[in-house]
Amino acid sequence: WKNAPATLRDIFLAGRSHGGKTFLVYEDDRATFESFSRAALAIAHALLRDGVKKGDRVAVAMRNLPEWPAAFFGAALTGAIVTPLNAWGQGAELEYALNDSGANVVFLDGERLDRLADGHLGNCKALTRVYVTRDTRAHADARVHRLEEITGAVNDWGRLPELPLPDVSLLPDDDATIFYTSGTTGAQKGALGTQRCTGTTVFAGLFSGQRAFIRKGEPVPDPAARTLQRASLVAIPFFHTTGCQSILAGALYGGSKLVTMHRWDVEQAMDLIEREQITVAGGVPTIAWQILEHPNRERYNLSTLESVAYGGAPASAELVRRIKQVFPAASPGSGWGMTETSATFTHHSGEDYVRKPDSAGPSIPVGELRIVGEQGETLPAGVVGELWAKGPHVVKGYWNKPEISAETFTDGWVKTGDLAYLDDEGWLYIVDRKKDMLIRGGENIYCTEVEGVLYEHPAVMDASVVGLPHKQLGEEPGAAVTLKAGAEASEEELRAFVAERLARFKVPVRILVLDETLPRNANGKILKKEVKKLLGVG
Ligand code: ATP
Ligand code: MG
Repeated sequence: WKNAPATLRDIFLAGRSHGGKTFLVYEDDRATFESFSRAALAIAHALLRDGVKKGDRVAVAMRNLPEWPAAFFGAALTGAIVTPLNAWGQGAELEYALNDSGANVVFLDGERLDRLADGHLGNCKALTRVYVTRDTRAHADARVHRLEEITGAVNDWGRLPELPLPDVSLLPDDDATIFYTSGTTGAQKGALGTQRCTGTTVFAGLFSGQRAFIRKGEPVPDPAARTLQRASLVAIPFFHTTGCQSILAGALYGGSKLVTMHRWDVEQAMDLIEREQITVAGGVPTIAWQILEHPNRERYNLSTLESVAYGGAPASAELVRRIKQVFPAASPGSGWGMTETSATFTHHSGEDYVRKPDSAGPSIPVGELRIVGEQGETLPAGVVGELWAKGPHVVKGYWNKPEISAETFTDGWVKTGDLAYLDDEGWLYIVDRKKDMLIRGGENIYCTEVEGVLYEHPAVMDASVVGLPHKQLGEEPGAAVTLKAGAEASEEELRAFVAERLARFKVPVRILVLDETLPRNANGKILKKEVKKLLGVG
């Protein structure tokens, strides 16, 4: 861990050393590590000319274009606090985040600029400069400039001069990033991470790939001996912590290619896996399911896949079995983490995962996990309580929110709001979110347990369980499901299926079988508030 990159600049420099290998692919645009570095440096110097100083906030709001990483690392090299914004947000939401972070500069694509029209941009008083990419229109707001005036088009980045690294001191404990939480349980909170946070996550990712070999006492394969470059199909947005800190920063540091899509499309994804020789795919469990269950899957050559990994949401043991069945050469992988822990905190893959498919894996070596009871006491193995996590990649707190920061962070520990237990090897099992547990007449019901049973039904593709208000009982469980293509199952059949496997009180009183997909946020998480609306409550 002494060798872990301590700053975003360390990650950038490691990336530059990968030279002429392909780094970013988006439609017809391709950038090598070398050309990417030139673009990032061009951006850094433009920001310095704009007067950006260490600690200023520089925001990025665009889809997964190659310009996203260039803006992120360009800003990071100036010592600014880089603030990725949820690109799926509407004008008012983007305006809120720009004002909450107090960003001085923002990088946008044309679509985001459109959403900020109608006065939103005018309300962002701290903004002195707006760089927009892939937009050739003239804009009335004098702050708006074209990014291409600094970097040129992506395919021309290689012709940019190689500018020197900005001369700013970056220390591991300096503020580096603000990532907004997903907003699953309420308003988004900006998690303020240090320079060290991302480096720790990157190193944790490398370590996780090696853990299985270390455990078995086998030599760790030499990355230089690989013939096929590691290549990830990026199906989740860069603006979330996993997309940026695990996938993007991990690829830059380790020399992997990243292939992004305009928007997620499973058939296009399979085509790209074949054409770009993708070795790592996944992101969230639903995406893995969509590939596994696609009727045209066998038309594509998906044999380069070495890993199908996901995290951030509960996954069923069934998914692990299916991955092993369909892609015998690929390792399934999973883990737990949150924005406040800079993504990955626990991770496991391969045989370890197959052995304990219900677990989220062990902590990375520099992390500590604790299960805490109602009185603040540490609970023993096997007992469910609130999960607390501590480590060098736990963020300092929430930007601009001293009260919830004080409630959530104590002595380096983050109180996660997740209910979990550890087994006697110290492996983590996520049971539910505290807010996702319902109490039916005094009996606890964990939504994820009931969802897990629904997922076992062969016709079910997606399931979500929520609490429905009940006068005497307080709450009772209800569910919404979507079925796999061509599959059929009635509400009665699904309820009977759950009743055979779980106590009566846990059986959803209503199961809505939907034709459309379940409502999700940008990170693929099911929005339970919206599911409740579908069930006629909330
Ligand atoms: P907000 O905090 O704004 O309500 P959020 O908690 O969904 O949103 P994130 O930080 O993106 O925002 O998500 C972290 C949460 O995702 C964890 O606290 C946990 O509830 C859930 N999660 C992450 N990994 C797993 C996993 N392997 N299994 C189950 N749940 C997981
Ligand atoms: Mg959260």
